Amino acid sequence: MKTVTLTIDGQKISARLGEKLLRAALDNGIYIPNLCYIKDKPESSASCRLCWVEIEGIKEPVTSCTVVAAEGMAVNTRGEKSLALARAGFELIMASHALDCAHCAANGVCELQKIARHLKVSLKTKRLRLLTRELPLDDSNPLFTYDPNKCVLCGRCIWACRHDVQSGVFGFAHRGFDRVMTTFADEPIGKDQCLDCHRCIEVCPTGALAFKDSVKTPDKKG
Ligand code: SF4
Ligand code: SF4
Repeated sequence: MKTVTLTIDGQKISARLGEKLLRAALDNGIYIPNLCYIKDKPESSASCRLCWVEIEGIKEPVTSCTVVAAEGMAVNTRGEKSLALARAGFELIMASHALDCAHCAANGVCELQKIARHLKVSLKTKRLRLLTRELPLDDSNPLFTYDPNKCVLCGRCIWACRHDVQSGVFGFAHRGFDRVMTTFADEPIGKDQCLDCHRCIEVCPTGALAFKDSVKTPDKKG
């Protein structure tokens, strides 16, 4: 296996040839905020706009999920410009999020909580007007619920359902503020559509897809 050597935050690391910076960092224990990235997906959708880093010799920050790690690269995940961009992106996401951690199945394992800690910001946006949608909860599946008000439109569940189990229960519908992760024809998830593999719950970074009642929501891993 061919590798390249680079530094991230002063730490010398090896990455597989052709590997993206975000994967290389995460594999070496260096956290960069991310939501739409999912391991093994060949091309990132680069839609969450959180994984900004600065690279020596490049003027503006870049998204680490789209840039390939190269020999000799010097990467900084803590630069002021990249942190400012990540904080702005996170605030936009949280401006339409139905925040209620105390009653949420993902409390304690939620990626949004982790990102807020990492960026040293509040989960509750102070500058932006809150625009939540009060969409109906889907609890038609006997084992888990889908709460679109906690969905951050990352697309992980859509990809995992199609790629990992060759099913296609989920997809995006509508555009702009009305965009929503849903099922074909907006049918209830229910037993008929779903194979009950629970892969979507594992990859969902929030409490949007969560087991009902007694089953502990797993640690989130994209
Ligand atoms: S999804 Fe995360 S941030 Fe949102 S209410 Fe649940 S635990 Fe809190
Ligand atoms: S339900 Fe979860 S995994 Fe699916 S798009 Fe929403 S936040 Fe992402």
